[in-house]
Amino acid sequence: MNVAQLLARTAQVYPDAPAIFRGTRLVCNYRELARRAACIAGYLRNTLKLVPGDRVALFMTNNTEYLEAMYGIWYAGLAAVPINAKLHAREAEFILQDAGASALFLSDDMADVLPALQAPDLRATFVAGGDSYDELLRAAPIAQIEPRTRNDLAWLFYTSGTTGRPKGVIESHGNLLAMTMCYFTDVDPASRDDAIVYAAPMSHGAGLYNFPHVLIGARHVVPDSGGFDPQELVGLAAQLRNASLFAAPTMVKRLVEHVAATGADTSGFKTIVYGGGPMYAEDIRHALAVMGDCFVQIYGQGESPMTITALSRAQLAERNHPRYDVRLASVGVAQSLVEVRVADADGKPLPPDTVGEVLVKGAPVMQGYWNNPEATAQALHDGWLLTGDLGSIDADGFLTLRDRSKDVIISGGSNIYPREVEEVLLLDPAVHEVSVVGRPHPEWGEDVIAFVALHPGKTTTVAELDTLCLDHIARFKRPKEYRFVELLPKNNYGKVLKTELRKILMQETNRK
Ligand code: AMP
Repeated sequence: MNVAQLLARTAQVYPDAPAIFRGTRLVCNYRELARRAACIAGYLRNTLKLVPGDRVALFMTNNTEYLEAMYGIWYAGLAAVPINAKLHAREAEFILQDAGASALFLSDDMADVLPALQAPDLRATFVAGGDSYDELLRAAPIAQIEPRTRNDLAWLFYTSGTTGRPKGVIESHGNLLAMTMCYFTDVDPASRDDAIVYAAPMSHGAGLYNFPHVLIGARHVVPDSGGFDPQELVGLAAQLRNASLFAAPTMVKRLVEHVAATGADTSGFKTIVYGGGPMYAEDIRHALAVMGDCFVQIYGQGESPMTITALSRAQLAERNHPRYDVRLASVGVAQSLVEVRVADADGKPLPPDTVGEVLVKGAPVMQGYWNNPEATAQALHDGWLLTGDLGSIDADGFLTLRDRSKDVIISGGSNIYPREVEEVLLLDPAVHEVSVVGRPHPEWGEDVIAFVALHPGKTTTVAELDTLCLDHIARFKRPKEYRFVELLPKNNYGKVLKTELRKILMQETNRK
């Protein structure tokens, strides 16, 4: 089944239901959203002569045309290639070339990058809101949605590429439909009264969550700012009510700090889904205290979109559970359409509470990497996806992530999981953010180094941080050095770039 059927069905059953908003202003209902998608599809197929399976890229900041364009692509049986709008033109160019994109949608604020882009397969470019886009909307609508099978490519999702070139993950129609069902069972029973707010890039997790909300006929809201502004978000939730959103842990932290400082009313928020990077136990504890039980955690990766595990609202609310502290620091339990296991280097399942690589198998798991059979063979073994994340599963089925395998520090032959040290350092109320990495050491292999950013106006000392570590973790895990910094380097999704921190340390070592 083609994911476009989700929109067609809602447009048929609830044609007048409000579909897309810019801020609090209604842009169109479901009838009109489906009409626009069908016209875009008509143009792409009949005028541009694209054929099913061709790739069409979107290099757009969040805007109200995003969903129209994506569903136009799917109505036509084509595949969408959403590119993170914060990427450099050269990076976008790599993706256009790698995907062999035949057409490109740009938001008007990106139009000036066009002359810089070289993509030989590109036959047409449309600037959202411009003349070329209006022409699409005037085209004759496609007669019917192009049928697609479960395994056909729907969304070519480029990994963030913190190590080497980004790879195109083949997310099929079947993968995305499975993810949609998991949203209802494991994350949130979305309803027609909900408003999903796109505060994070629509090219990534936030955009993937359009599917359950299109299926149920909810409202889709693009903030006026196009992104994440805590004050705007609080205002939007208050007016729209039943607001849901996907946010990276760093965004949740900023939102919670804003609410704690202003005492703003947050009753308009229904569900805040966080994930995509580690949420420290102290931070989620604080978030729950400030905003109440509106949080759900997911753990996923492009290769199993939004669907490996989830820590539900109910589990986060069960404060009297004897293992509550462990659960709070975990990423929850396997989502309903996947099997999750922790395995050794040979893929053999490990007993409870033993650290190994996290493996996942099931309907949402990718088909492979685009034009990259070697990487596919490395990542998929017998249907199991090797996530590259290390963790352990307890007897109750809760998965606790340690780190990405490449982030583990090996010092004097012992494994040190940076996350564990980071959790301890965050117990100091002066510490705002922290990242722990290894530095090459001639004798020990690696040394533990902590980069620490403090809350403005607050202070702490190396001695205090050291005492905290000695009180909580083994001596050999404690940092040999603390570096106080103003900010930690982050990628476009707000993830701390440990590669950058390691590079700094490596350069210093080489200079010596
Ligand atoms: P990406 O494919 O860019 O979305 O990155 C996926 C990676 O982000 C995963 O393999 C994990 O290392 C990390 N990640 C995702 N969700 C979580 C989470 N809830 N907690 C900790 N790390 C996470």
